[in-house]
Amino acid sequence: MKVLVDKEKCFMSGECYYNHPELFRMDDDGYPEVIENRLDQDLLRHAEEAVQVCPAGALKLEK
Ligand code: SF4
Repeated sequence: MKVLVDKEKCFMSGECYYNHPELFRMDDDGYPEVIENRLDQDLLRHAEEAVQVCPAGALKLEK
């Protein structure tokens, strides 16, 4: 599984990179950049949480 960011939807609210710096960092334009896609069980849970919390529906998990 990997996390994908849809920059068309993202409005840079920051929840993903502030709540999950183990998975995301802010890029130079303010968008999240995925820094870890080797998701063990814990990280997968964090990623699922980030997907649920994103107010823009801009994150998704893909196999
Ligand atoms: S939580 Fe969603 S809208 Fe906010 S920065 Fe992350 S991807 Fe973008």
